[in-house]
Amino acid sequence: MADLDAEQSGMAQGLAVRLWSSRWLLIAGVVAILGVYALAAISGFVVLAALALLLAAAMLPVTGTRQSAESAAAIEAIGLQRLSGEYLAAAVADPLIIFDRTATIVHANSAAFAAFGGIAPGLSLSLKFRAPEMQALLDGVLSGDVASDVVDYTEKLPVERAYRVSASSVGHGTDLYVLVFKDQSEARRIDRMRADFIANASHELRTPLASISGFIETLRGPARNDPAARDQFLQIMQSQTGRMARLIDDLLSLSRLEMKPYLKPGTEVDLRETVDSVIDSLGPLASENSVIVERDYADGPLDVPGDRDELFQVFENLLENACKYGQSGGRVVVSIARGDPGSEPGIDVTIRDFGPGIPEEHIPRITERFYRVDVETSRTQKGTGLGLSIVKHILTRHNGRLSIKSEFGNGATFSVHLPTH
Ligand code: ADP
Repeated sequence: MADLDAEQSGMAQGLAVRLWSSRWLLIAGVVAILGVYALAAISGFVVLAALALLLAAAMLPVTGTRQSAESAAAIEAIGLQRLSGEYLAAAVADPLIIFDRTATIVHANSAAFAAFGGIAPGLSLSLKFRAPEMQALLDGVLSGDVASDVVDYTEKLPVERAYRVSASSVGHGTDLYVLVFKDQSEARRIDRMRADFIANASHELRTPLASISGFIETLRGPARNDPAARDQFLQIMQSQTGRMARLIDDLLSLSRLEMKPYLKPGTEVDLRETVDSVIDSLGPLASENSVIVERDYADGPLDVPGDRDELFQVFENLLENACKYGQSGGRVVVSIARGDPGSEPGIDVTIRDFGPGIPEEHIPRITERFYRVDVETSRTQKGTGLGLSIVKHILTRHNGRLSIKSEFGNGATFSVHLPTH
């Protein structure tokens, strides 16, 4: 009923605007009719023409910039009058609650119902949000001290969520207020990850740096005239600078990949040739660790779309890990096979070692940056803790997948699935 009234009054206002904007034409029409009668030299045709002119004036569209601005403002006013607060609240993606001057909920949008259990019109906001910062926010706007205010508020259950909540009065003299909750949880999580990452990277760089600086001091002091000690210390310093260089290279690789996470690689990569050259380049490491690398490749072309250098880095990291951590198994099998006919078309490259494997509880976290099963083993093996996270990033860019299977004590299998198109 209210909608109907609003619609009728809207139509009346629209007609009024239209007539007002054509007023000069209307006046001209009326004057023309009167003039024609006054002169008494009329024909039916002339009267009809004048009437047609009058009719046209009423129907003429509003023209000219001033008129169109006026009519746009009028139409906007009509549109906003007809806009229901409920529709407006529903169109807001963030949780939104409208309340009155007694802090009682008048309306909540569906995002608010989804985010906060147990809210309903008629419920007191002070009972629902008991945190002191929320009470202060409500008191501030309801007392009229401030027109709007913002606080940070954390909802603990069912899962912890951090919100930035703004409260403000609605319009003039409506006695209504609105609360809008902006979810900050994801931004906070990313901030925490960034801070952790910087702390980890700094720590990793600081350890070799401290060792180098210690040796410099020793060389300038007690070991100044000891050639044997000097040689030994210089060698250690060199290996520590190597460790720092590896870490910086890995950090740069990661940041380069993060800058372009969705760039689609454009060229075809021959996986047989790429994996062969990885095995060749790691030949010295394999023989140093007494590991024999066996190949088991499917026949025919084994090409996938991708970036050859990046895919080289993937297989290099995986084979290097297999030779280092699976060293005790004495052999590593590298196989390339086409995916099952029933599944998504692609090629699987699998690197299997026969070393101690990875305890099950570590597998889900092993691709996180700086995550290692055993920090000391990784350090002695010249690991940075970033290899598998680089692998994961590169595979994401290739729409690929990494799956890890391991039975503790029975080796580890790292499988890379790359789609063929
Ligand atoms: P790192 O530079 O330490 O090798 P990665 O990201 O490549 O870092 O690997 C993370 C951790 O995963 C390693 O420190 C190691 O503990 C474990 N890991 C990786 N590959 C293997 C493997 N083939 N066998 C046993 N453990 C492995």
